[in-house]
Amino acid sequence: MARNILVTGGGTGIGRAVALHFAAQGEQVVITGRRPGPLEEPARRSGVRALVCDHTDPDALTRLLGELPERIDVLVNNAGGNIMFDADGRTDLAAYARDFRANLDANLVTAALTTKALDERLVEGGAVMHIGSIAADQGAGSYGASKAGLATWNISLAHELGARGITANVVAPGYIADTDFFRDQLADERRAQLIANTATGRPGSPEDIVGAVAFLASPAARHITGQVLHVNGGAHTTR
Ligand code: NDP
Repeated sequence: MARNILVTGGGTGIGRAVALHFAAQGEQVVITGRRPGPLEEPARRSGVRALVCDHTDPDALTRLLGELPERIDVLVNNAGGNIMFDADGRTDLAAYARDFRANLDANLVTAALTTKALDERLVEGGAVMHIGSIAADQGAGSYGASKAGLATWNISLAHELGARGITANVVAPGYIADTDFFRDQLADERRAQLIANTATGRPGSPEDIVGAVAFLASPAARHITGQVLHVNGGAHTTR
């Protein structure tokens, strides 16, 4: 039977690739994003359902619930990004507070609110995944802090959901090319450095993340929970 799968931020990049993969497997997939525009192409191409939602907003999430199936098998909390790429350059304390909070909102609060909103719909045998980041272990200011918080929060989530037969894990990408993440602000030098940091000598692709997400959502991964699965070509290792 087809599973019901929600991929937040599924209009572009990693989320889009994850959604297209599950749709190609015959699953019932819903994607979300704040802008209707980027949701159109994957919806047209693969038949995934596209719904506009800002996952930082509890009211928007409550409205989203009215559009979603009663049972959710797989939740992929992918929506996020480093809001510093969209920052206005202000450096005063008020701007610092605004931007810091915005990164926590974008990457940590989105996942926590979405999981909370869907709690009663998550079914036994299900899987929750959050897209974390190598930045949680390597820095990157408030963005890295938000992804580190996501991984720590996931530990208690795994215990809460484990009792109901649901897994909860983080997939932590290293540098992934061909997404909108860097907003065209990745200098050639920095890109070369990120690739040089890997053991594989190449950037990651959205498909690399699809592999990890598909595995964690599969029957083969039922005893894996509360973990961070790093997908970074060896740019960060746990030993
Ligand atoms: P993209 O910018 O292509 O994708 C992010 C998606 O999230 C967009 O479709 C965006 O759509 C959506 N989104 C952002 N905020 C919200 C929100 N509040 N509510 C709903 N949707 C939202 O970048 P990636 O695919 O690279 O990023 C996906 C995830 O991977 C992010 O969590 C990112 O932090 C993480 N990541 C990426 C890495 C990389 O190198 N690319 C490395 C490590 C982690 P819209 O703006 O329309 O809402």
